[in-house]
Amino acid sequence: MFDTVLIANRGEIALRIQRACRGLGLKTVAVHSEADRDAVYVRQADQALCIGPASPSQSYLDPSALLFAAEVSGAQAVHPGYGFLSENASFAQQVEDAGLVFIGPSAACIRTMGDKVAAKRAMRRAGVPCVPGPDEGLPSAPAEVLALAREVGFPVIVKAAGGGGGRGMRVVHEEGALLEAIALTREEARRAFGNAEVYIEKFLLHPRHVEIQVLADSHGHAIWLGSRDCSLQRRHQKVVEEAPAPGIDEALVAEVGERCAAACRQLGYSGVGTFEFLYEKGAFYFIEMNTRLQVEHTVTEMTTGIDIVQQQLRAARGERLALTQADIACQGHAIECRINAEDPASFAPSPGRITGWHMPGGFGVRVDTHAGAGYRVPPYYDSMIAKLIVHGSSRVDALDRMRLALAEMQVEGIATNVPLHRAIMRDEGFAAGGVDIHHLERWLAQRSAA
Ligand code: ADP
Repeated sequence: MFDTVLIANRGEIALRIQRACRGLGLKTVAVHSEADRDAVYVRQADQALCIGPASPSQSYLDPSALLFAAEVSGAQAVHPGYGFLSENASFAQQVEDAGLVFIGPSAACIRTMGDKVAAKRAMRRAGVPCVPGPDEGLPSAPAEVLALAREVGFPVIVKAAGGGGGRGMRVVHEEGALLEAIALTREEARRAFGNAEVYIEKFLLHPRHVEIQVLADSHGHAIWLGSRDCSLQRRHQKVVEEAPAPGIDEALVAEVGERCAAACRQLGYSGVGTFEFLYEKGAFYFIEMNTRLQVEHTVTEMTTGIDIVQQQLRAARGERLALTQADIACQGHAIECRINAEDPASFAPSPGRITGWHMPGGFGVRVDTHAGAGYRVPPYYDSMIAKLIVHGSSRVDALDRMRLALAEMQVEGIATNVPLHRAIMRDEGFAAGGVDIHHLERWLAQRSAA
């Protein structure tokens, strides 16, 4: 099918994908900007090509540069990683049209899931529980809009159908503010996403972020690989993730997981994906599907023992899933801390040269990183430089292991958020499990007030 994969990404995920390719005997093509030419995965690749200057729009976000690199290198498949063009349906289409394999679902699936209204409608059809609210764009007549909002009940959230990255959303607490919020969101959506469609749904006050990982092949088979909890967030950015989501009835997770797998079959979805839910008062509410590999796939790998990236590559090669749902067992508990090059108090990015680098190790400890002593963190991209993942026989065991691992971890020359993670792991709320998506920001506000 294909034996050479172009990795259209950078950083730790470029290395993660490269390792998975090598494990399957596939050759890799690293493409890089001028700022990333010294990266370890560039050195280790079978071929490496510079695709442009540091600016993402002229390199990692430039479809023609990537397609040209695929052509000259002879790569027959493109792995988009996460971020950048990974959920860009038009890029997936261009890859398909060039006769190459896009390692992900079809462009049509990405397009459906990228439209939040279409996605919600597809999920309702498949029996996946959704946030209360109409799965249609809002009408223009004010009286109709008000009637719909009253039916949902305040507070509501106005969302852009084409929104993403936490943008294009507005919470409305009372009727009087609704029409203006809709007008503003519409205008913002038209400008930012080229799609003025907006919709409303119930705004949940204290939800947790719980997601389900799925794996599907192109022959109609799909399974789910357990739950993750990613409620510890700052400005909608995940900071710590864990698997499984603590304290949720296993039978309920299994029921929702089955619905997700069924939705994949119904959609003709293939590859890996994540169904994101808000979880409140014992119920799941679908918010969106990510049609790509996620940063936090690692915690699911630790609890299931499955190499998710290798599975993704196998599915893209047209192989049948060798696993059935009965083969999936969740063992123990895993936690991931995203290690960022940033000030642990102000969160200001801290690019520059790493002068000292000591990584933790030992039983149940995993570090996914492309950085090391002497590596210069470029200022142009996301500040994540490593993922520290631990696995334990229980959540308590995993927490203890994470505290030890963070104590061992030393990075010199730049600031990192390791001290923040150390403090989070000492927080009683987090240690108890099941905090909501506002917990971290509340905790940070209290800390800065103290
Ligand atoms: P994006 O694609 O921009 O990430 P999502 O639909 O995933 O948008 O929503 C992002 C975040 O906004 C969620 O993780 C949650 O914190 C908040 N959010 C979205 N919908 C609701 C809702 N109905 N009630 C409460 N919070 C919500």
